[in-house]
Parts: sequence; C-alpha cells; structure tokens
Amino acid sequence: MEKATTNLVGAAYWRDRADSIQLEGRCLIDGKLVEAQSGHTFDCVSPVDGRFLTKVSAGGDADINRAVAAARLAYRDRRWSGQSPVARKRTLQVFAALIRHHRDELALLETLDMGKPITASRSVDVEAVANCFEWYAEAIDKLYEQIAPTAATDLALITREPLGVVGAIVPWNFPMLTAAWKTAPALATGNSVVLKPAEQSPLTAIRLAQLALEAGIPEGVFNVVPGLGGAAGKALACHMDVDGVFFTGSTATGRLLTEYAAKSNLKRVCLELGGKSPNIILASYGDIEKAAVTAAESMFNNQGEVCIAPSRLIVERSIHKQVVEIVAEVAKRRQPADPLDPATRMGALVDANHADRVMGFIGRAKADGATLVAGGARALTETGGSYVVPTVFDNVSNGMEIARDEVFGPVLSVIPVANVDEAVAVANDSPYGLGAGVWTDRLSDAHKISRELRAGVVYVNCYNDCDITTPFGGVKQSGNGRDKSLYALDEYTELKTTWIKL
Ligand code: NAD
Repeated sequence: MEKATTNLVGAAYWRDRADSIQLEGRCLIDGKLVEAQSGHTFDCVSPVDGRFLTKVSAGGDADINRAVAAARLAYRDRRWSGQSPVARKRTLQVFAALIRHHRDELALLETLDMGKPITASRSVDVEAVANCFEWYAEAIDKLYEQIAPTAATDLALITREPLGVVGAIVPWNFPMLTAAWKTAPALATGNSVVLKPAEQSPLTAIRLAQLALEAGIPEGVFNVVPGLGGAAGKALACHMDVDGVFFTGSTATGRLLTEYAAKSNLKRVCLELGGKSPNIILASYGDIEKAAVTAAESMFNNQGEVCIAPSRLIVERSIHKQVVEIVAEVAKRRQPADPLDPATRMGALVDANHADRVMGFIGRAKADGATLVAGGARALTETGGSYVVPTVFDNVSNGMEIARDEVFGPVLSVIPVANVDEAVAVANDSPYGLGAGVWTDRLSDAHKISRELRAGVVYVNCYNDCDITTPFGGVKQSGNGRDKSLYALDEYTELKTTWIKL
C-alpha cells in the first residue's frame, strides 16, 4: 500500500468527531437512500470500543432486484455508458476530488467501522481510493481499439464494450479500497454497478456512493445494497440480469460464487481470494536485519488482516536464530492501542468473532507443537474492543494448520529450511498462490526463484511495495481475476468483432 503521510491533528480531535459523526446505514438505490424492503436491519458495532454505531439495512432479494433493475435501466438508456470517455473522465475526476475533500470523514468512518488506525485510514486508504478513481479516469480517454489485418475487401473492427450490470462483493479489511479497485474500472468503462459491502464494514461504501452522485455520476449507475453475505451477496451473485460478479473475499465464498454463476446465467466471475504467502529470507542477503524487520512489519500491517500478508516466513537455518530474534522484537514493540490516536500503528481486529477465531488458531498452533516466541494474547479488553497482540511462532512445520490455513490476523509463522531448494518447495506447497517474497543479493537466484514461485505477485528484497500501475491477484486457490492497472479494464469489458464487407 502507499506510504502514510503525517497526520496533523491529535486523538482528541478524532474522539470528538467520532461522537458527532453522521452515520448512514441505508441502501442507496437509483440515487435514493432507502430502507431494506423487509424493514430488517442489523447493528453496526465498532471494534474500537464496542460502541453501537448505527442500524444498517439488511438487504435481501427484493433490494437486490430493485438495485439491479435501476442499474439495468441506467445502462440501457446510456445515461452513463453513452457518455464520451472524456465526459466520464471529468466526472470521475470530480469524484476523486470529492473523496479527498471528505478525507477526514471517510477515514473516521473506516476506522470506527473496522478498527484500523486512523493514520492509516486517512493517509493510506483514502488517498489510495482517490488515486484509484483518478487513475482510471485519466486512462479511459487514452485507449484505442483495433482493426484486424483482413483482406482489402473487408473491414473488421475489434472493440471493447462494457459488460453492462456489474455486481461487486467486497470484504472488510480494506472496505473502501477493495470497493474502489472494482468500481473505478467498472465505472470508467461505462458499466452500472451494484456494490455489496461486507456486513462488518458497510459505512464507507454507502458514503462513497453518495459522493459519486454529488460528483455527477447519474442516478442508478452506482448502487449500494448492504446486507449479509448469504442474503444480499447471494442474491446479487445468483441474479439472472447481472453480467459479472467481481469478488474479493475468502476462498470458501469464492467457490460458492462460481457455483451460483453456473446455476444462474453463467455470468463472468472474477475472484480475488485468500492467501498464505511465503516470504523467503536467504543467507545470501546482506542486510538480514532489514529483511526481518520488513517481514514482521508487513505481517502486522493492518493488524495482519491483509490477504497478501507474508504469514509464512521461510528462513535458511544458518540465519534462523537471528531472524527470529528480530521479528519477535518487532512484534513486542508493535502493541495494539487506540485506533483513534494518530500515533497508533496497530489497531483492533474487525470484530469479537474474528478475535475469537484468531485466538483459536493460536491455541491450536501451540497444541501442534509450534514454539510461541511473542504475543499469543488479547489486549485492551477493558475498552470493549477486539484486540490481539502481534504473535510469532517459531519451528513451524509447513504441514501444521497455522502454516496451511489463512488466519487473517497478526500471526507470523517461522519455518526453518536447509537450503534454497527446500525454501522454494515449501513456499509452493500451499493451496494458495497470492503473494510471495524472496530476499537475496544473488541476481540469478532472485530471477530463478521468482520464476519458480507460484504466485500472482512476487516481491524481491521488499514486501508489499505496490501502486495502482501493476496488476494484483492470485493463482491456484487465491483466485483468477486481476485488480488494478490497465489489465483490470479487460475484466469489465467484452470484446466485440464487427465484420464489414466493403
Ligand atoms: P468472506 O468471503 O466471508 O466475505 C467477503 C464478502 O462476501 C462479504 O461482503 C460477504 O458478505 C460476502 N459473502 C459471504 N458469503 C456470501 C455468499 N454466500 N454469497 C455472496 N456473498 C457472500 O470474506 P471476509 O472474511 O469478509 O474477508 C476476508 C477474506 O478476504 C480473506 O480470505 C482474505 O484473504 C480475502 N481477501 C482477499 C483479497 C485479495 O485481493 N485477494 C483482498 C482482501 C481480502
């Protein structure tokens, strides 16, 4: 993620604002805020301190039907898809500017809703979201289409058209950013969108759609239906009039979405799923301290709730002791604290259920024989929030549950290996293939190993460095689609051939 910039105000400012901020939990369909047709709601509770935030509409079949119908009408009458690329560009640029203008409000909503530190929400997430809309806006009027090399008697045009009505289903760890990664290329290419945010973190999605309207994106083009996965999410993914579903979330849900598409209208399904990413530190890397500190910080970033977190640290035995000491030290220094304090670097986990789930993994790793060298406990229980301290296990074997399953929390497993070949074999021995890292000063090893690693993104002598210009996604059971970069535009469009006899 992009690097954080300094926050200029203190904790008192954010706590005051948190007490008075306007919260909106209704659906936004066809340009209007509406309750779920059933009248059902669920409580939105902050993991920061357990405070009740607001009631959120529990969308279901009827609301998804309304949103899809509004999106289809908007697509059909071409109020957005029929605008010139330069016109869509200008509106999306206004949208990006409005997001920056509402930076503090959006950051606070995100922090209250899912627990990440305010400095990260404000300087990393909001900025990356604005940049994402701006980047696709700027791209869209610079893309050319093709003419095929036919005989002189014919003219064959190869053009790209929007899919039509796009469903986006996103998780809670980067609620706004994953929504932007889907909606920005979808809107830029002229689609209409129905967004289903995670039930744990619906607030910024609804606010973004309000700002989109204010920016001039026509009614019905950007709809949001909050609700439970098995209700609103399933209804969207099963809908016969949705042309594609774009998903970030767990591998288990991704599997269901593929099934729903097969059983409904065979809609396009793009999946960004879980990970258990390996990060290999080889003795041939000169600055072991830098590699180990980066490994630990990348793991504990966003409370470890990062799909590409380097949760399996694979280390050559000759440097293993040194690496473990450093990562344990980083873990001990990075204690959870109030997410509303700009100095905080480690916030709350998304909710109490998830904190229980993470503690369950920790308990079973101990029982399986992994050596606990840091953390392993809850923190700040007196606040009513959901906090778990950064945790490091050593002497993990790649067959243990802690090395195979995605914890999606602040738990790092160190796996010692004998040599480079074993490191690569262990790295690839996983059902997942999202990210991977390798640290070495030997150029040929860096090239060779990064080719051998089965992952959508490989980092050499760094981890999690990225920007909007490169594709992001996984192989194996980490999914099939690609977010970000110009390649994402392919996902939201269909190729059309028009053959003209001259
Ligand atoms: P999840 O799969 O439980 O939920 C994700 C979304 O899917 C939510 O909006 C949820 O309501 C919805 N959903 C749940 N069941 C559904 C169903 N039956 N039909 C339709 N929608 C349904 O995942 P989560 O726990 O919210 O998020 C964590 C997961 O997301 C982790 O596995 C993580 O690795 C993954 N993730 C992946 C990426 C990536 O780019 N690869 C990025 C972030 C998170």
